[in-house]
Amino acid sequence: MDYQRILDTINDEMSYRDVTGKVASYIPELAKVDRRKFGMHVYCGDQKHFSFGDSEENFSIQSISKVFTLAMAMRLMGEDLWDRLNVEPSGDPFNSLTQLEYESGIPRNPFINAGALVLSDILVDQLEDPKQELLDFVRKITGDPDIQYDEKVAASEKATGYRNIALVNYIKALGNIKCDVEPIVDFYFYQCSLSMSCKDIAKAFMIFANKGRMLETNEKILKPKTVKRINALMQTCGFYDEAGEFSFQVGLPGKSGVGGGIVAIHPDNYSVAVWSPILNEKGNSELGMKALERFTTLTGVSVF
Ligand code: GLN
Repeated sequence: MDYQRILDTINDEMSYRDVTGKVASYIPELAKVDRRKFGMHVYCGDQKHFSFGDSEENFSIQSISKVFTLAMAMRLMGEDLWDRLNVEPSGDPFNSLTQLEYESGIPRNPFINAGALVLSDILVDQLEDPKQELLDFVRKITGDPDIQYDEKVAASEKATGYRNIALVNYIKALGNIKCDVEPIVDFYFYQCSLSMSCKDIAKAFMIFANKGRMLETNEKILKPKTVKRINALMQTCGFYDEAGEFSFQVGLPGKSGVGGGIVAIHPDNYSVAVWSPILNEKGNSELGMKALERFTTLTGVSVF
């Protein structure tokens, strides 16, 4: 497969001018991002990788981080995790509070904010230094020791994070949060602020395309069963109330973030990350989705 030619075609055919959405503006750090940014990076099982545009520029990965915290929580708890979280698509926006009450504080899935905050509770409860351990995990699977949190983004998230703070309080009232609210939201705001490039993200997600093993060393990071579960959740819940549309258009398990990043994987084959900060009304990168639709069409390779 000539991935570079396919990426070059996408780069030639598409640009920020083709989409009409808005850059996230709920915090100033995200509102400042240049709407013209556009990059894509593909990693393959033979360690070859291909790219175009701003694929090595760091951006705020936001909710893509929920896949990393889910992987860490599954390593700690195994199948017991599913006593605290459901595995159904929500059909509601990512920050919705509505389904919690009639589901007794058990979030619909780990990728809506409610679910990610329960993951955060678990990591804060069980790890000595969860922020450092998350950083160590991401640095290990990317092989990039320079990955950092963006302190400004984390501080802004904290200053405006009333809804996430409300979610934790609400879930705690319903009995599904153990720790104090403050350390849980602090960890969550930091994980959202992780600053990574498409190249880093595509590399990291190769563990989900490679049955839980690192590409270079073949070291086992996750059990194949864990990877199967996480990929299933990315397929059904990775795009909130647009999960059906993403499956329909692109046909890969994936995860988005309001920083404009999207990552998707093809089991045993490749991992692809794209970044364009212009979001559609569901909070997913508008150009990113179009580029991935083109990618699976031109390669002829999707899970369907
Ligand atoms: N920081 C954002 C929030 O918690 C992340 C949401 C997202 O990327 N979908 O609201």
